[in-house]
Amino acid sequence: MSFCLKKNLLDMNLYKENPALKFQLGHPLMEKIVALKEQNFADKDKYDYAPQDFEDAIDSYDRILEIVGEICGDIIAPNAESVDHEGPQVINNRVKYARGTQENHDALAKAGLYGMALPRQYGGLNFSMVPYVMAAELVSRADAGFANIWGLQDCAETIAEFASEDIKAEFLPRVCAGETCSMDLTEPDAGSDLQAVQLKATFNEEDQTWYLNGVKRFITNGDAQIKLVLARSEEGTNDGRGLSYFVCDNKHDDRIKVRRIENKLGIKGSPTCELVFTNAPAKLVGTRRMGLIKYVMSLMNGARLGVGAQSVGLSAAAYEEALAYARDRRQFGKAIIEFPAVFEMVSMIKAKLDASRAILYECTRFVDVYKAYEAIEATRKLTPEEKADYKEYQRLADAFTPMLKMFSSEFANQNAYDCIQVHGGSGFMKDYACERLYRDARILTIYEGTSQLQTVAAIRHVTTGGYLKQIRAYENMEINPIFNPIRARLVAMTEKYEAIVNAVVETKNQEYLDFVARRLVEMAGHIIMTYLLIIDATRDEQFRTSAEVYINYAEAEVEKHYSFIKAFNIDDIELYKA
Ligand SMILES: Cc1cc2nc3c(=O)[nH]c(=O)nc-3n(C[C@H](O)[C@H](O)[C@H](O)COP(=O)(O)OP(=O)(O)OC[C@H]3O[C@@H](n4cnc5c(N)ncnc54)[C@H](O)[C@@H]3O)c2cc1C
Repeated sequence: MSFCLKKNLLDMNLYKENPALKFQLGHPLMEKIVALKEQNFADKDKYDYAPQDFEDAIDSYDRILEIVGEICGDIIAPNAESVDHEGPQVINNRVKYARGTQENHDALAKAGLYGMALPRQYGGLNFSMVPYVMAAELVSRADAGFANIWGLQDCAETIAEFASEDIKAEFLPRVCAGETCSMDLTEPDAGSDLQAVQLKATFNEEDQTWYLNGVKRFITNGDAQIKLVLARSEEGTNDGRGLSYFVCDNKHDDRIKVRRIENKLGIKGSPTCELVFTNAPAKLVGTRRMGLIKYVMSLMNGARLGVGAQSVGLSAAAYEEALAYARDRRQFGKAIIEFPAVFEMVSMIKAKLDASRAILYECTRFVDVYKAYEAIEATRKLTPEEKADYKEYQRLADAFTPMLKMFSSEFANQNAYDCIQVHGGSGFMKDYACERLYRDARILTIYEGTSQLQTVAAIRHVTTGGYLKQIRAYENMEINPIFNPIRARLVAMTEKYEAIVNAVVETKNQEYLDFVARRLVEMAGHIIMTYLLIIDATRDEQFRTSAEVYINYAEAEVEKHYSFIKAFNIDDIELYKA
């Protein structure tokens, strides 16, 4: 019976089966995004696959996503189980993917689905971020571990943005042809604190080449052909200002050895490597010393969006598995979905899925607009109005990215946990996909910056009023009057949020602010996501239930954090110190 159930969930086009994605593609801001991205549709005369106009662009996003959805349903999802069992291996310091991983990769490469967001001149599809992130969500829905390998094409974005023309011409067509990438930042003593990176970059005057020496660890897809490496180029430095960013062609000689693959809890198909660099030649990307401050920050922001998509994809899988099982399984003479304790769990999984998807695409639209302006600015001067618009969207993207990463990854974990609970004892067995989802979810709150580090990035948007400003903007948006009672509750929640933020800020106590930071960010996040749900539900009835369910949860969470902070005695922080 279990395999029969799984079969029902596979063998389908994961894009066509998901009306929420098509809905996001129809968002009003898409017209502006496409106009900025396609720049008067100038490519239409050069490339036969470039869109002629807005409708044509959306139509091509739709068609490509259908192909992604088909590959995900027909190949990647059915392979997920065997990949999880088999995993990759290290043979002679090289990585060999599991059979299913290789098949997934080959199918996507053959369909031209690497380099989706790269410019057409390098063989890319010049997709805006929204459809690209949708593809990432779909791949993750099929197999969250494989989403890493495919999603590392993100690395190419920083090459396109910051590298010289020569480097772009050398590497970008290779990414579009299906060569994979890795992002080599972490070292044994440099995890959350990347300023501590020690891998050494030395410039040889004789052959005018940089060489890398040292160790990296926890590198996903570490044996990729194209590697982006953070390294210490400035001798005698110890902080982020001594680091530069390099691209490294992994020629599969002995210069970059995979010493081992980690034995992990989840995402087992995704090889996490320890690497030794021995005089590995590399090329400098952009300017020396700007490695961490500028390029890696940009890379990580893109990757955080990727983990957001990965988290939403995993939540979608958890929802589908939980719902199918709850409808199928009978106890006490009826399907377990009919018990309030079970339908409450399933509807909360759905509400958290819809809330995290709403913030994922809202954030992605903000990124899309500012990135498109950034690309235009490289070719001409922006008008003052354009510049102001660019800065505003960049600010919103900065504020929403850590919030999205934190919430979507935490929700994916909660949803995977509840998915097992809905399955009862069967959920603990390998027969059902939910135990894999549970293991795969656990990394999401850790890599690309832990939830604690997302809070560090988000808190300034609490203290400077950035989130509040956006909450007020949502408050003033036109909504279906049936949601007025929800809006009234949100206004009351916002008053509490504002009052408690002011109270914390007024203490001028940094340690206290850090102590309650996550609660404050969560309060803002719950308000924002509920607004997004009622705005979406105004455009489409399919989100109404989630909006009405989520507000009850959001209100209780906001109240909980408010009460905690209000009642908290600052001196009690001492009690928490180990
Ligand atoms: C499966 C996997 C894949 C990975 N893939 C890659 C990859 O492709 N490329 C790459 O470069 N790295 C990768 N990483 C590394 C990953 O990004 C780091 O593990 C992560 O950033 C955390 O660093 P750490 O493990 O050293 O933990 P630590 O930094 O030691 O953190 C330990 C704990 O301390 C907390 N903490 C640390 N500093 C602070 C602070 N300032 N404020 C509050 N709390 C703090 C953290 O939240 C965490 O709870 C991967 C890791 C894993 C496990």
